Amino acid sequence: MKVLKFGGTSVGSSKNINKVINILTNYSKTDSVVCVVSAVGGITDKLLVAGDLAKNKDEDFNEAFKTIKEIHISIVKELIPTKNEPIISYVQEKLNELKSLLDGIFLINELSPKTSDKLVSFGELLSSFIIAETMKSRDISAERKNSQDIVVTNSNFTKAEVDYKITDKNILEYFKSAKERITILPGFVSRSKSGEQTTLGRGGSDFTAAIIAAALNVTQLEIWTDVSGMFTTNPKLVKQAYPIEKISYQEAMELSHFGAKVLYPPTVQPVLDLNIPIHIKNTLDPEAIGTIISNKDAHSTSPVKGISNINNIALLTLQGSGMIGIPGFSRRLFETLSQEKINVIMITQASSEHSICLGIEEKDAHAAKAAIDTTFENEIELHKIDPIIVERDLSIIALVGDNMKNHQGISGKMFSTLGKNNINIRAIAQGASEKNISAVILQCDVKKALNTLHEQFFEIKTKQLNVFITGVGNVGEKLVEQIKQQRKYLKENLKINLRIAGLSNSRTMIFNEDGIDLNNWKDLLKEGEKASLQGFFEKTKTLNLRNSIFVDVTANYDVANLYANYLRSSIAVVACNKIACSSDYENYKLLKRLSLKYNAPLLFETNVGAGLPIIDTLNNLIASGDKVNSIQAVLSGSLNYVFNNFNNTTKFHDVVKQAGVEGYTEPDPRIDLSGVDVARKILILARESGVEMNLEDIENIPFLSESGLKSDSVNDFYETLIADEAHYQKLFASAKANNCQLKYVAKFDNGKASVSLQEIPIGHPFSNLEGSDNIVMFYTQRYPKQPMIIKGAGAGADVTASGLFADIIRVGNE
Ligand code: ADP
Ligand code: ASP
Ligand code: MG
Repeated sequence: MKVLKFGGTSVGSSKNINKVINILTNYSKTDSVVCVVSAVGGITDKLLVAGDLAKNKDEDFNEAFKTIKEIHISIVKELIPTKNEPIISYVQEKLNELKSLLDGIFLINELSPKTSDKLVSFGELLSSFIIAETMKSRDISAERKNSQDIVVTNSNFTKAEVDYKITDKNILEYFKSAKERITILPGFVSRSKSGEQTTLGRGGSDFTAAIIAAALNVTQLEIWTDVSGMFTTNPKLVKQAYPIEKISYQEAMELSHFGAKVLYPPTVQPVLDLNIPIHIKNTLDPEAIGTIISNKDAHSTSPVKGISNINNIALLTLQGSGMIGIPGFSRRLFETLSQEKINVIMITQASSEHSICLGIEEKDAHAAKAAIDTTFENEIELHKIDPIIVERDLSIIALVGDNMKNHQGISGKMFSTLGKNNINIRAIAQGASEKNISAVILQCDVKKALNTLHEQFFEIKTKQLNVFITGVGNVGEKLVEQIKQQRKYLKENLKINLRIAGLSNSRTMIFNEDGIDLNNWKDLLKEGEKASLQGFFEKTKTLNLRNSIFVDVTANYDVANLYANYLRSSIAVVACNKIACSSDYENYKLLKRLSLKYNAPLLFETNVGAGLPIIDTLNNLIASGDKVNSIQAVLSGSLNYVFNNFNNTTKFHDVVKQAGVEGYTEPDPRIDLSGVDVARKILILARESGVEMNLEDIENIPFLSESGLKSDSVNDFYETLIADEAHYQKLFASAKANNCQLKYVAKFDNGKASVSLQEIPIGHPFSNLEGSDNIVMFYTQRYPKQPMIIKGAGAGADVTASGLFADIIRVGNE
């Protein structure tokens, strides 16, 4: 004999019920089958909502009833299209009873636990009847037996306790003489010794099946549901979760107790002593292997078996100096909760005994506070203890595994993983058996916490990076394309799963927490919502994805001003925008501090020399104990381009214009030609060398003509270049006469920095710089005479994008 249980989704539509019937008929070819069914999916909730509306004198309960009625009638009609009248009239009769009950609740304005049990029982009673009758109509040997006639409980309504002695006897007696191959029973419903309808608690159909399996001592209990087994974590919240093939009773119990809804926690108890394995299977995919819960081969080497969560938790904290060393506080606390029938899910007590912390269901918080404050009224009045503190909107997450006790550092890993993602932990508990480590966190962080922990403990080193890019102009577009090209490589070779979760230009922005489709991101972006810098930040923060990275590919002041907000939310910042790091020193320092405090890298390699590894090299020198003596550099790709192409046969204006066309200058070329851009770069290098300095401290000797310096607009500026051609030709002529080349040079020496146009003699390392190349020479304690030189293309969309890309990967490798 086999016992199978089918859950709400499995019997949630005529299509699924047909699948169930197929499974049952196949099984019944070789063995007799006991089948326990839940109510049609969602009906228990709907019954409770209808009851609540009626209780609150809300006429809408009629509508709620109508929906329940229509669902059942249409299932019958679909399953048994002809000759269904007797069945429909029985269902109708039951529904009339239900309607009368709801009318009664409406009339008296009250819904007691006892009436509530009567109400919800309709769900399973109807579903089991419909399924059995459908089978009979198809000439399948099936009979329905009402579990209320065999499962006997106490009168603890809504979660009654089973009297096993009577129940087991009833089960054995009934099945001794059952003639049909298939017996269908409603799960969840039962009856008290005095004959009142009771239920076994929400999700209790699993339990009904386990009680019957144990009484009949069958070889296997099968729980058929809508997922392919017990997963490593809730598959609805973590896409990468996968079914656990084998798991021990203890582990399954812990996981279900801590929220893995796939199995009702008490289910394990009846079958445990008899060693009856529980097989969890998927009605929607019967071929899938599923999960076997037993004590056989369940102990894998991996210490963590699963991660689960319970939402809607409140944390109660009882504290006060009067608690220390005085016995009896805990006893009185727990007695109070027990009298109120409040279930305590988690307990932690600081070793100082100064405070005790309890996790309970949020719905009980109000009653718990009132009762506890009353119990400790005297002590509170005497200021020995404080009134109980209640915190809401919390969740418990738990790591579960029999083998955790044999491995060190699991909790350390758990908490550092959560910490790195800025998930605040309110309380921690570790069971003495070490099968479980649980933590209380904010409910809004649950999805992120489960995903990060799953990544840490189950996804063998694959790290997901979620990138949010602002500014998809020239460089940004290149970056998106490079990411698209490299995604596969990164996944396969670096185990990095890089996704773009947000994109914005100045007009529109789009988000997708599963990663934006990079094959048509431009069209998607066109259709996006109206862009806003603050909105982009808020959305990035609310999505709350792990390893989030904000990438600033603008030259915008307001974007730079939001870095602090991103860092405070533990979102890494990667920027080619130089404004933040060359802003006021206090602000630069603040960003550095925030980056450290919130564990969110702030990387800006592309601020100097585009994709060249200049800042990274400098950081490595400093980190390894070197000290910078001086820096000499040509740091402007644009100015290098300009002075490489300007001579007595070209016009200064045309060369500058061309540099703009080729994307070498900032949108406003004055930023390059005034030397401000280079000054910002040398400032950033000086600061990264450990020097406190501001932009005003940098000596900037201009080479522009007087009118060029004073121009009010970009257009005016170009006009001055034409008018002052002679001024620029003079600069060229002087250099040529001295057998030199013009180079725009940045220097940092002895705590002082300057930027200026210089005549560089032939043969100097700066002299043969081509195109838009940059060069940096670091003279340090370790490189006192022969400097460390970094040289190469220092401007251009492609190299800048690849520099940003490298920073993103650096964040991933942190
Ligand atoms: P049924 O109606 O079949 O009893 P339930 O809704 O009670 O189904 O339980 C199945 C659901 O449990 C899944 O659809 C899934 O959303 C949820 N669930 C939560 N944690 C887990 C887990 N660790 N493994 C599998 N399912 C889980
Ligand atoms: N129908 C009940 C519930 O939804 C019992 C069950 O499905 O297991 O809680
Ligand atoms: Mg269930």
